[in-house]
Amino acid sequence: MNKPSIEQRFAPLLQARQAQNLYRARPLALSAQQPSMQINGKQVINFSSNDYLGLANAPELKNALQQTLSQNLSVGSGAAHLVTGHSLEHHLLEDELADWLGVERVLLFSTGYMANLAVQQVLMQKGDLILGDKLNHASLIDGALQSDADFKRYAHNDMSALEKRLSKTQHADSATLIVSDGVFSMDGDLTKLPELQKLAKNNQAWLFLDDAHGFGALGKHGKGCFEYFDCQPDTNTILMGTLGKAFGVSGAFVAGSQTLIETLINFARPYIYTTAMSPMMAAAGREALRLVKQADARREHLNQLIQQFRIGASQLGLPLMDSPSAIQPIVLGDAATALAWSEQLKQQGFWVGAIRPPTVPHNTARLRITLSAAHTAEQVDSLLEALAACQHSHTLSR
Ligand code: PMP
Repeated sequence: MNKPSIEQRFAPLLQARQAQNLYRARPLALSAQQPSMQINGKQVINFSSNDYLGLANAPELKNALQQTLSQNLSVGSGAAHLVTGHSLEHHLLEDELADWLGVERVLLFSTGYMANLAVQQVLMQKGDLILGDKLNHASLIDGALQSDADFKRYAHNDMSALEKRLSKTQHADSATLIVSDGVFSMDGDLTKLPELQKLAKNNQAWLFLDDAHGFGALGKHGKGCFEYFDCQPDTNTILMGTLGKAFGVSGAFVAGSQTLIETLINFARPYIYTTAMSPMMAAAGREALRLVKQADARREHLNQLIQQFRIGASQLGLPLMDSPSAIQPIVLGDAATALAWSEQLKQQGFWVGAIRPPTVPHNTARLRITLSAAHTAEQVDSLLEALAACQHSHTLSR
Protein backbone atom coordinates (compact mmCIF):
# COMPACT_ATOMS: atom_id res chain seq x y z
CA MET A 1 0.00 0.00 0.00
CA ASN A 2 1.22 3.45 -0.85
CA LYS A 3 -1.53 5.78 0.30
CA PRO A 4 -0.82 9.53 -0.07
CA SER A 5 -0.26 11.75 2.92
CA ILE A 6 -2.06 15.06 3.11
CA GLU A 7 1.27 16.77 2.43
CA GLN A 8 1.91 14.70 -0.69
CA ARG A 9 -1.52 15.32 -2.09
CA PHE A 10 -2.02 19.00 -1.37
CA ALA A 11 1.37 20.73 -1.13
CA PRO A 12 1.80 20.55 -4.96
CA LEU A 13 -1.71 22.02 -5.44
CA LEU A 14 -0.86 24.94 -3.21
CA GLN A 15 2.45 25.46 -4.98
CA ALA A 16 0.66 25.46 -8.34
CA ARG A 17 -1.75 28.10 -7.06
CA GLN A 18 1.20 30.24 -6.00
CA ALA A 19 2.80 29.88 -9.41
CA GLN A 20 -0.44 30.92 -11.16
CA ASN A 21 -0.99 33.97 -8.92
CA LEU A 22 -4.13 32.29 -7.60
CA TYR A 23 -3.07 31.64 -4.02
CA ARG A 24 -5.60 32.89 -1.48
CA ALA A 25 -4.62 34.44 1.82
CA ARG A 26 -6.89 36.04 4.40
CA PRO A 27 -6.15 39.71 5.08
CA LEU A 28 -6.15 40.33 8.81
CA ALA A 29 -8.43 43.18 9.86
CA LEU A 30 -6.96 44.79 12.93
CA SER A 31 -9.63 47.40 13.45
CA ALA A 32 -13.40 47.59 13.18
CA GLN A 33 -15.09 47.42 9.77
CA GLN A 34 -15.21 50.99 8.52
CA PRO A 35 -13.70 52.90 5.60
CA SER A 36 -10.48 53.71 7.45
CA MET A 37 -9.08 50.41 8.65
CA GLN A 38 -5.91 48.68 9.62
CA ILE A 39 -5.50 45.62 7.44
CA ASN A 40 -2.39 43.43 7.56
CA GLY A 41 -0.78 46.08 9.72
CA LYS A 42 -1.33 48.88 7.20
CA GLN A 43 -3.71 51.82 7.54
CA VAL A 44 -5.90 51.85 4.42
CA ILE A 45 -9.23 53.05 3.08
CA ASN A 46 -11.27 49.91 2.56
CA PHE A 47 -13.06 49.65 -0.78
CA SER A 48 -13.69 45.90 -0.54
CA SER A 49 -16.39 45.25 2.04
CA ASN A 50 -20.08 44.52 1.51
CA ASP A 51 -21.01 46.92 4.30
CA TYR A 52 -22.96 49.02 1.80
CA LEU A 53 -24.75 51.23 4.30
CA GLY A 54 -21.86 51.50 6.75
CA LEU A 55 -23.83 49.77 9.51
CA ALA A 56 -21.33 47.06 10.51
CA ASN A 57 -19.70 49.38 13.03
CA ALA A 58 -22.75 51.56 13.77
CA PRO A 59 -23.04 52.67 17.41
CA GLU A 60 -26.78 51.85 17.31
CA LEU A 61 -26.01 48.21 16.60
CA LYS A 62 -23.41 48.08 19.36
CA ASN A 63 -25.90 49.64 21.76
CA ALA A 64 -28.52 47.10 20.74
CA LEU A 65 -26.08 44.32 21.55
CA GLN A 66 -25.19 45.95 24.85
CA GLN A 67 -28.85 46.15 25.78
CA THR A 68 -29.23 42.43 25.24
CA LEU A 69 -26.93 41.99 28.26
CA SER A 70 -29.63 43.28 30.59
CA GLN A 71 -32.35 41.25 28.86
CA ASN A 72 -33.00 37.63 29.48
CA LEU A 73 -30.94 36.52 26.47
CA SER A 74 -28.18 33.96 26.37
CA VAL A 75 -25.03 34.34 24.27
CA GLY A 76 -25.55 31.01 22.57
CA SER A 77 -28.87 29.76 21.25
CA GLY A 78 -27.95 26.39 22.78
CA ALA A 79 -29.59 24.24 20.14
CA ALA A 80 -31.11 24.03 16.68
CA HIS A 81 -34.34 25.91 15.97
CA LEU A 82 -36.43 22.72 16.11
CA VAL A 83 -34.98 21.74 19.48
CA THR A 84 -34.89 24.70 21.90
CA GLY A 85 -32.81 27.24 19.98
CA HIS A 86 -35.67 29.29 18.49
CA SER A 87 -35.89 32.39 20.68
CA LEU A 88 -38.37 35.25 20.77
CA GLU A 89 -35.72 37.50 19.16
CA HIS A 90 -35.48 35.14 16.14
CA HIS A 91 -39.24 34.98 15.96
CA LEU A 92 -39.72 38.75 16.09
CA LEU A 93 -36.98 39.38 13.53
CA GLU A 94 -38.70 36.96 11.14
CA ASP A 95 -42.06 38.67 11.64
CA GLU A 96 -40.58 42.14 11.23
CA LEU A 97 -38.75 41.17 8.01
CA ALA A 98 -41.94 39.59 6.61
CA ASP A 99 -43.92 42.69 7.46
CA TRP A 100 -41.29 44.96 5.86
CA LEU A 101 -41.17 42.94 2.66
CA GLY A 102 -44.91 42.35 2.47
CA VAL A 103 -44.56 38.55 2.30
CA GLU A 104 -46.41 35.89 4.31
CA ARG A 105 -43.43 34.46 6.11
CA VAL A 106 -39.67 34.73 6.60
CA LEU A 107 -37.27 32.08 7.87
CA LEU A 108 -33.88 32.94 9.33
CA PHE A 109 -30.74 31.00 8.43
CA SER A 110 -27.29 31.26 9.98
CA THR A 111 -25.77 32.07 6.58
CA GLY A 112 -26.91 32.83 3.05
CA TYR A 113 -24.82 29.93 1.83
CA MET A 114 -26.96 27.53 3.85
CA ALA A 115 -30.19 29.21 2.77
CA ASN A 116 -29.25 28.72 -0.88
CA LEU A 117 -28.47 25.04 -0.32
CA ALA A 118 -31.69 24.55 1.63
CA VAL A 119 -34.11 26.08 -0.86
CA GLN A 120 -32.90 24.11 -3.84
CA GLN A 121 -32.37 20.81 -2.01
CA VAL A 122 -35.88 20.85 -0.62
CA LEU A 123 -37.94 22.31 -3.43
CA MET A 124 -36.36 20.58 -6.37
CA GLN A 125 -36.85 16.85 -6.74
CA LYS A 126 -35.83 14.13 -9.19
CA GLY A 127 -37.21 14.91 -12.64
CA ASP A 128 -37.43 18.66 -11.91
CA LEU A 129 -35.28 21.27 -13.63
CA ILE A 130 -33.19 24.12 -12.23
CA LEU A 131 -32.23 26.86 -14.69
CA GLY A 132 -29.52 29.13 -13.30
CA ASP A 133 -27.72 32.20 -14.66
CA LYS A 134 -24.10 31.39 -15.58
CA LEU A 135 -22.80 34.07 -13.20
CA ASN A 136 -24.84 33.02 -10.16
CA HIS A 137 -23.09 32.99 -6.80
CA ALA A 138 -21.19 29.83 -5.84
CA SER A 139 -23.71 29.00 -3.11
CA LEU A 140 -26.55 28.95 -5.67
CA ILE A 141 -24.51 26.69 -7.94
CA ASP A 142 -23.66 24.37 -5.05
CA GLY A 143 -27.33 24.24 -4.01
CA ALA A 144 -28.39 23.31 -7.53
CA LEU A 145 -25.68 20.64 -7.82
CA GLN A 146 -26.68 19.12 -4.49
CA SER A 147 -30.38 18.88 -5.33
CA ASP A 148 -31.76 15.80 -7.13
CA ALA A 149 -33.05 17.92 -10.02
CA ASP A 150 -31.43 18.41 -13.42
CA PHE A 151 -29.39 21.59 -13.52
CA LYS A 152 -28.74 23.70 -16.60
CA ARG A 153 -27.11 27.10 -16.82
CA TYR A 154 -28.07 29.84 -19.26
CA ALA A 155 -25.78 32.59 -20.58
CA HIS A 156 -25.56 35.56 -18.25
CA ASN A 157 -28.76 37.63 -18.31
CA ASP A 158 -29.62 36.15 -21.71
CA MET A 159 -33.41 35.97 -21.63
CA SER A 160 -33.74 34.33 -25.04
CA ALA A 161 -31.34 31.57 -23.95
CA LEU A 162 -33.47 31.09 -20.85
CA GLU A 163 -36.64 31.06 -22.91
CA LYS A 164 -35.17 28.37 -25.17
CA ARG A 165 -34.31 26.25 -22.15
CA LEU A 166 -37.78 26.75 -20.73
CA SER A 167 -39.41 25.62 -23.96
CA LYS A 168 -37.48 22.35 -23.72
CA THR A 169 -38.82 21.62 -20.24
CA GLN A 170 -39.67 17.95 -19.76
CA HIS A 171 -42.81 16.46 -18.23
CA ALA A 172 -45.91 18.54 -17.64
CA ASP A 173 -46.01 17.62 -13.95
CA SER A 174 -42.36 18.35 -13.11
CA ALA A 175 -41.33 21.65 -11.53
CA THR A 176 -38.96 24.20 -13.03
CA LEU A 177 -37.05 26.70 -10.90
CA ILE A 178 -35.39 29.77 -12.39
CA VAL A 179 -32.54 30.86 -10.14
CA SER A 180 -30.70 34.16 -10.30
CA ASP A 181 -28.67 36.61 -8.29
CA GLY A 182 -30.52 39.93 -8.02
CA VAL A 183 -27.29 41.94 -8.03
CA PHE A 184 -24.47 39.83 -9.48
CA SER A 185 -21.83 39.69 -6.82
CA MET A 186 -18.71 39.96 -8.98
CA ASP A 187 -20.10 42.13 -11.82
CA GLY A 188 -22.48 44.40 -9.93
CA ASP A 189 -25.08 44.35 -12.70
CA LEU A 190 -28.72 43.48 -12.04
CA THR A 191 -30.83 40.61 -13.23
CA LYS A 192 -33.61 41.48 -15.68
CA LEU A 193 -36.28 40.93 -13.11
CA PRO A 194 -39.39 41.98 -15.09
CA GLU A 195 -38.44 39.61 -17.94
CA LEU A 196 -37.55 36.82 -15.50
CA GLN A 197 -40.91 37.17 -13.84
CA LYS A 198 -42.74 37.15 -17.16
CA LEU A 199 -40.87 34.06 -18.37
CA ALA A 200 -41.52 32.30 -15.07
CA LYS A 201 -45.22 33.10 -15.24
CA ASN A 202 -45.65 32.13 -18.89
CA ASN A 203 -43.94 28.82 -18.29
CA GLN A 204 -45.41 28.07 -14.85
CA ALA A 205 -41.89 28.07 -13.45
CA TRP A 206 -40.95 29.13 -9.93
CA LEU A 207 -38.50 31.99 -9.40
CA PHE A 208 -35.74 32.01 -6.77
CA LEU A 209 -34.03 35.39 -6.43
CA ASP A 210 -30.89 35.73 -4.31
CA ASP A 211 -30.88 39.43 -3.46
CA ALA A 212 -27.94 39.26 -1.06
CA HIS A 213 -26.46 42.48 -2.45
CA GLY A 214 -29.80 44.18 -3.07
CA PHE A 215 -31.60 44.10 0.27
CA GLY A 216 -30.84 47.18 2.29
CA ALA A 217 -28.93 48.95 -0.49
CA LEU A 218 -31.06 48.85 -3.63
CA GLY A 219 -34.41 50.55 -4.17
CA LYS A 220 -35.54 53.78 -2.58
CA HIS A 221 -36.41 52.06 0.67
CA GLY A 222 -33.80 49.34 0.43
CA LYS A 223 -36.22 46.57 -0.44
CA GLY A 224 -33.90 45.33 -3.15
CA CYS A 225 -34.46 44.33 -6.75
CA PHE A 226 -38.24 44.01 -6.48
CA GLU A 227 -38.52 47.59 -5.33
CA TYR A 228 -35.93 48.83 -7.85
CA PHE A 229 -37.87 47.30 -10.77
CA ASP A 230 -41.28 48.06 -9.24
CA CYS A 231 -42.27 44.38 -9.39
CA GLN A 232 -44.24 42.27 -6.92
CA PRO A 233 -43.28 38.76 -5.82
CA ASP A 234 -46.05 36.18 -6.30
CA THR A 235 -46.74 32.91 -4.49
CA ASN A 236 -44.23 31.06 -6.69
CA THR A 237 -41.43 33.51 -5.83
CA ILE A 238 -38.75 32.70 -3.28
CA LEU A 239 -36.51 35.48 -2.03
CA MET A 240 -33.19 35.15 -0.23
CA GLY A 241 -31.40 37.98 1.57
CA THR A 242 -28.39 38.17 3.82
CA LEU A 243 -27.94 40.17 6.98
CA GLY A 244 -24.15 40.24 6.67
CA LYS A 245 -23.94 42.84 3.92
CA ALA A 246 -26.04 46.06 3.95
CA PHE A 247 -27.59 45.06 7.29
CA GLY A 248 -24.16 45.04 8.91
CA VAL A 249 -24.72 41.96 11.11
CA SER A 250 -24.71 38.30 10.04
CA GLY A 251 -27.15 35.61 9.03
CA ALA A 252 -29.68 35.36 6.23
CA PHE A 253 -33.33 34.84 5.48
CA VAL A 254 -35.68 33.23 3.01
CA ALA A 255 -38.96 35.02 2.32
CA GLY A 256 -42.10 33.70 0.67
CA SER A 257 -45.37 31.92 1.27
CA GLN A 258 -46.51 30.19 4.44
CA THR A 259 -46.30 26.81 2.66
CA LEU A 260 -42.76 27.50 1.46
CA ILE A 261 -41.53 28.38 4.94
CA GLU A 262 -43.26 25.45 6.66
CA THR A 263 -41.78 23.14 4.01
CA LEU A 264 -38.28 24.44 4.73
CA ILE A 265 -38.79 24.08 8.49
CA ASN A 266 -39.86 20.49 8.02
CA PHE A 267 -37.48 19.30 5.33
CA ALA A 268 -34.41 21.56 4.95
CA ARG A 269 -31.38 19.77 6.34
CA PRO A 270 -29.22 22.97 6.38
CA TYR A 271 -31.93 24.46 8.60
CA ILE A 272 -32.78 21.51 10.80
CA TYR A 273 -29.34 20.16 11.62
CA THR A 274 -27.53 23.29 12.71
CA THR A 275 -27.43 25.47 15.80
CA ALA A 276 -29.60 28.58 15.61
CA MET A 277 -27.73 31.90 15.36
CA SER A 278 -27.10 33.65 18.65
CA PRO A 279 -30.26 35.34 20.00
CA MET A 280 -28.06 38.39 20.58
CA MET A 281 -27.29 38.50 16.87
CA ALA A 282 -31.02 38.22 16.14
CA ALA A 283 -31.61 41.20 18.45
CA ALA A 284 -28.89 43.13 16.60
CA GLY A 285 -30.61 42.07 13.35
CA ARG A 286 -33.85 43.67 14.55
CA GLU A 287 -32.02 46.92 15.23
CA ALA A 288 -30.30 46.64 11.82
CA LEU A 289 -33.71 46.35 10.16
CA ARG A 290 -34.87 49.45 12.02
CA LEU A 291 -31.79 51.31 10.72
CA VAL A 292 -32.20 49.98 7.17
CA LYS A 293 -35.78 51.29 7.15
CA GLN A 294 -34.52 54.73 8.15
CA ALA A 295 -31.55 54.74 5.80
CA ASP A 296 -32.97 56.69 2.85
CA ALA A 297 -30.28 59.36 3.29
CA ARG A 298 -27.53 56.73 3.46
CA ARG A 299 -28.83 55.10 0.26
CA GLU A 300 -28.97 58.49 -1.44
CA HIS A 301 -25.39 59.25 -0.42
CA LEU A 302 -24.32 55.79 -1.64
CA ASN A 303 -25.97 56.43 -5.02
CA GLN A 304 -24.19 59.77 -5.30
CA LEU A 305 -20.85 58.05 -4.62
CA ILE A 306 -21.65 55.41 -7.25
CA GLN A 307 -22.33 58.14 -9.83
CA GLN A 308 -19.22 60.06 -8.80
CA PHE A 309 -17.08 56.95 -9.14
CA ARG A 310 -18.52 55.97 -12.50
CA ILE A 311 -18.13 59.44 -13.99
CA GLY A 312 -14.54 59.70 -12.70
CA ALA A 313 -13.58 56.19 -13.83
CA SER A 314 -15.03 56.65 -17.30
CA GLN A 315 -13.16 59.96 -17.66
CA LEU A 316 -10.00 57.97 -16.93
CA GLY A 317 -11.00 55.46 -19.59
CA LEU A 318 -11.19 52.60 -17.10
CA PRO A 319 -13.26 49.63 -18.29
CA LEU A 320 -16.40 49.95 -16.17
CA MET A 321 -19.10 47.32 -16.19
CA ASP A 322 -22.81 47.94 -16.66
CA SER A 323 -23.41 48.23 -12.93
CA PRO A 324 -25.78 50.62 -11.18
CA SER A 325 -24.96 49.02 -7.83
CA ALA A 326 -22.34 49.59 -5.13
CA ILE A 327 -20.21 46.87 -6.75
CA GLN A 328 -18.01 48.51 -9.39
CA PRO A 329 -15.56 46.02 -10.87
CA ILE A 330 -12.69 46.91 -13.15
CA VAL A 331 -11.81 43.91 -15.27
CA LEU A 332 -8.07 43.77 -15.96
CA GLY A 333 -7.68 40.32 -17.52
CA ASP A 334 -4.97 38.12 -16.11
CA ALA A 335 -4.51 37.39 -12.44
CA ALA A 336 -0.99 38.86 -12.29
CA THR A 337 -2.21 42.26 -13.55
CA ALA A 338 -5.11 42.34 -11.10
CA LEU A 339 -2.71 41.48 -8.28
CA ALA A 340 -0.24 44.16 -9.39
CA TRP A 341 -2.93 46.87 -9.41
CA SER A 342 -4.28 45.73 -6.07
CA GLU A 343 -0.76 45.81 -4.61
CA GLN A 344 -0.08 49.28 -5.99
CA LEU A 345 -3.39 50.55 -4.58
CA LYS A 346 -2.40 49.11 -1.21
CA GLN A 347 0.89 51.02 -1.37
CA GLN A 348 -1.16 54.18 -1.97
CA GLY A 349 -3.37 53.40 1.04
CA PHE A 350 -6.42 51.72 -0.54
CA TRP A 351 -7.63 48.19 0.05
CA VAL A 352 -9.20 46.77 -3.10
CA GLY A 353 -9.20 43.01 -3.53
CA ALA A 354 -8.04 41.30 -6.73
CA ILE A 355 -10.74 38.80 -7.66
CA ARG A 356 -9.30 35.94 -9.65
CA PRO A 357 -10.37 32.55 -11.03
CA PRO A 358 -12.04 30.34 -9.98
CA THR A 359 -14.25 33.05 -8.42
CA VAL A 360 -14.51 34.72 -11.85
CA PRO A 361 -13.95 33.22 -15.35
CA HIS A 362 -10.41 32.95 -16.73
CA ASN A 363 -8.94 36.15 -18.15
CA THR A 364 -11.49 38.27 -16.33
CA ALA A 365 -9.51 38.86 -13.13
CA ARG A 366 -10.57 42.17 -11.71
CA LEU A 367 -10.49 44.75 -9.01
CA ARG A 368 -13.80 44.51 -7.17
CA ILE A 369 -14.38 48.02 -5.87
CA THR A 370 -17.29 48.32 -3.49
CA LEU A 371 -18.68 51.60 -2.28
CA SER A 372 -20.35 52.24 1.04
CA ALA A 373 -22.51 55.03 2.43
CA ALA A 374 -19.75 55.38 5.03
CA HIS A 375 -17.29 56.60 2.38
CA THR A 376 -16.89 60.30 1.73
CA ALA A 377 -16.79 61.98 -1.68
CA GLU A 378 -13.15 62.90 -0.93
CA GLN A 379 -12.25 59.25 -0.34
CA VAL A 380 -13.78 58.31 -3.69
CA ASP A 381 -11.84 61.11 -5.39
CA SER A 382 -8.58 59.92 -3.89
CA LEU A 383 -9.33 56.34 -4.97
CA LEU A 384 -9.81 57.64 -8.52
CA GLU A 385 -6.45 59.43 -8.31
CA ALA A 386 -4.80 56.24 -7.11
CA LEU A 387 -6.39 54.29 -9.97
CA ALA A 388 -5.07 56.87 -12.42
CA ALA A 389 -1.58 56.33 -10.99
CA CYS A 390 -1.95 52.54 -11.43
CA GLN A 391 -3.10 53.08 -14.98
CA HIS A 392 -0.09 55.29 -15.65
CA SER A 393 2.49 52.88 -14.26
CA HIS A 394 0.85 49.92 -15.97
CA THR A 395 0.95 51.67 -19.35
CA LEU A 396 4.62 52.57 -18.74
CA SER A 397 5.55 49.01 -17.82
CA ARG A 398 3.96 47.51 -20.95
N1 PMP B 1 -25.43 34.96 -2.28
C1 PMP B 1 -24.63 35.92 -2.77
C2 PMP B 1 -24.99 36.56 -4.08
C3 PMP B 1 -23.49 36.31 -2.05
O1 PMP B 1 -22.68 37.24 -2.55
C4 PMP B 1 -23.20 35.68 -0.82
C5 PMP B 1 -22.01 36.08 0.04
N2 PMP B 1 -20.91 36.56 -0.56
C6 PMP B 1 -24.05 34.68 -0.37
C7 PMP B 1 -25.16 34.35 -1.11
C8 PMP B 1 -23.78 33.95 0.90
O2 PMP B 1 -24.23 34.68 1.98
P1 PMP B 1 -23.55 34.51 3.42
O3 PMP B 1 -22.30 35.31 3.37
O4 PMP B 1 -24.56 35.02 4.37
O5 PMP B 1 -23.28 33.04 3.57
